[in-house]
Amino acid sequence: SAHHQGKNEILFFDPELTRKTQQRLTQESDILQALEHNEFALFLQPQVELQSDRIIGAEALLRRRLPDGSYSLDAEFIPFAEEIGLIVPLGYWVLEQGCRILADWQREGITIPLSVNLSGVQIQHRNFLLELKTLLSRYQIKPGMLVLEITETARIDDLDRALKLLSELHHSGVSVALDDFGMGYSSLHYLNRLRCLPINIIKIDRSFISSLPEDDLMVRIVSSIANAMDISVIAEGVENSAQHQWLKAHNIPMAQGYLFARPMPRDAFEKLLRQGAPLPEKTGK
Ligand code: C2E
Ligand code: MG
Ligand code: MG
Ligand code: MG
Repeated sequence: SAHHQGKNEILFFDPELTRKTQQRLTQESDILQALEHNEFALFLQPQVELQSDRIIGAEALLRRRLPDGSYSLDAEFIPFAEEIGLIVPLGYWVLEQGCRILADWQREGITIPLSVNLSGVQIQHRNFLLELKTLLSRYQIKPGMLVLEITETARIDDLDRALKLLSELHHSGVSVALDDFGMGYSSLHYLNRLRCLPINIIKIDRSFISSLPEDDLMVRIVSSIANAMDISVIAEGVENSAQHQWLKAHNIPMAQGYLFARPMPRDAFEKLLRQGAPLPEKTGK
């Protein structure tokens, strides 16, 4: 900014930078307005137990309503919200919305857990734990019903903090799932540290599932790591029956993916749940 310090002051003016700053401010206020105007929604994707083909859980995924009434989420949206810090209020909204759904389900006798995605940025925020505990007690969430999905991206210098946070999460009665497992930082050192921690679920990243059944090495490795550590497994992004059959044959307990169902509005999910039909639904004869 221009301080009137001297006559010979040189001001640097970068029109490109100004344009970018302005664009950013516009996008930022756009997200805040969308929050205020209730334009966000959580879609639910079923999680299926492979032995029984039954829905045993759901993952909540953020969507935004478009002017035409449809819902979507750009791949760049979450990283952008993280970059400008808006993931903190947005993530809080997601968490509260998730607790509301669970509280309704508890009243209606629906007893499956709901998984909610957390951003690494969000959980490092100093108010995070207190806000979470406040929500859990306000909505009287029963232990184990809220699952927090954390993407495995902890850098080595964050590890101690991350581990401490995970054990505090456990003590507040939530379950922890490691999302996109195998894609981030998972050295043997890291696994060794995780060993004494209350990780409930490892989610095998979709990229490993998509190479099934031809290339099954990574799924075998991740699944044996999980077995050895006594942690349950969900296969992410199951799209076809060849993948499905491989997972069943190799005793992978749970799966999620377009083969079973896409993420859907809450009412559609609850309808599916009430019907109690096995997934994937058998079509035709
Ligand atoms: P994720 O948590 O790993 O979620 C799985 C993503 O894979 C979702 O994409 C889901 O719609 C998609 N998916 C599920 N089954 C299949 C399948 O069979 N095939 C394919 N190709 N895709 C499948 P989505 O909803 O676009 O979300 C992308 C990522 O954005 C999520 O990955 C998660 O990291 C993040 N995200 C979504 N909602 C939230 C949120 O509320 N908070 C935070 N912090 N992140 C979120
Ligand atoms: Mg997830
Ligand atoms: Mg994720
Ligand atoms: Mg994932």
